[in-house]
Amino acid sequence: MNIHEYQAKDLLRGYGVAVPRGGVAFTPEEAASVARELGGPVWVVKSQIHAGGRGAGRFQDNPAGKGGVRVVKSVEEVASNAAEMLNRVLVTKQTGPAGKEVKRLYVEEGADIKRELYLGLLIDRATGRVTIIASTEGGMEIEEVAHNTPEKIVKVAVDPATGIQGYHTRKVAFALGLEGKQIGAAAKFIQAAYKAFTELDCAIVEINPLIVTGSGDILALDAKMSFDDNALFRHKEVAALRDEAEEDPAEIEAAKHELNYVKLDGNIGCMVNGAGLAMATMDIIKLYGAEPANFLDVGGGATKERVTAAFKLILSDSAVEGILVNIFGGIMRCDVIAEGVVAAARDVQLHVPLVVRLEGTNVALGKKILADSGLPILSADNLDDAAKKIVAAVKKEAA
Ligand code: GDP
Ligand code: MN
Repeated sequence: MNIHEYQAKDLLRGYGVAVPRGGVAFTPEEAASVARELGGPVWVVKSQIHAGGRGAGRFQDNPAGKGGVRVVKSVEEVASNAAEMLNRVLVTKQTGPAGKEVKRLYVEEGADIKRELYLGLLIDRATGRVTIIASTEGGMEIEEVAHNTPEKIVKVAVDPATGIQGYHTRKVAFALGLEGKQIGAAAKFIQAAYKAFTELDCAIVEINPLIVTGSGDILALDAKMSFDDNALFRHKEVAALRDEAEEDPAEIEAAKHELNYVKLDGNIGCMVNGAGLAMATMDIIKLYGAEPANFLDVGGGATKERVTAAFKLILSDSAVEGILVNIFGGIMRCDVIAEGVVAAARDVQLHVPLVVRLEGTNVALGKKILADSGLPILSADNLDDAAKKIVAAVKKEAA
């Protein structure tokens, strides 16, 4: 789960991370009142969407205008810029061409930027450790820096047995070219960010840019936090920050039915039990020259209701031109699955080709239920056969 910049800054501030003062606003009037409270002389008005690149982004209705992060010098300008940004669609490198509607703003005190740096914390899958990523190239996408100038990135892995230590933060501070009192300030900053990361079960904490001010202070000018969904149950205060308007409606619907669904760009919808089998199914669809429309794991104990919900979800994607159901009935019985598939296909008035591959407990009965249903369901004997059949059926429909 992701949260907004202002929410991340509030959480980080609570852990002692240095962030500028600011407040959220939903209207131009609120923006002006936050600005008045902060006092000047410089304010920054920032679009709050779950995507980066806002500064360089442009509003859809005014591509020649200013971006989603604006530095202004009066309360009136705070209000007028807020009015220009609210309820408008901001398109950035990370939103894709459709953009995202700005519904909230963050009004912050302006900072005197001397240097822009990068600091990130994440879990490195290779080492299984929380790893600090730092770079002198702040304000740019770290993926780009990693690609063009990998020597400008330093990685420091933290052993969970020791937790964060002075040598970790010193290594980062020296790599960032910090000096004097900045080294101590950076140590405090990084330790606080690490504490927030581990205590809140984060997946990512990214400060880009981390700045050094004219007076030598270290500040988080931007903040992105994303959390491990599986740990949200123990952080009610974090779960409450969820902004459903920022999320894919299909993924929200999936979560309600405990389905693991990720929308993809292809045209073949997949319904599979088990994440590994779902990955294999996607691979084999690609092998036969087509693209999966989604990843969908219905889980081990899918009921008829869940299978129906899964079908509706797959079909809510207008790009879907065919569906492949691939179920291995171990704990689940194939006859129960077949009944669910038949009921769901009737319920949603299925209008695209459907291939079903069943294997496991009561498979003969399951296949009989599919055959007796009178529905145009293509039965497959194995995964290879199933993938070939659905790819051929979709190609035939298109021709
Ligand atoms: P992003 O573009 O979505 O990553 O948004 P950021 O919060 O990183 O802001 C983009 C850029 O705006 C930063 O890299 C800064 O250069 C600039 N910026 C943000 N806040 C301030 C500020 O207080 N003062 C000044 N002068 N520039 C700022
Ligand atoms: Mn940024």
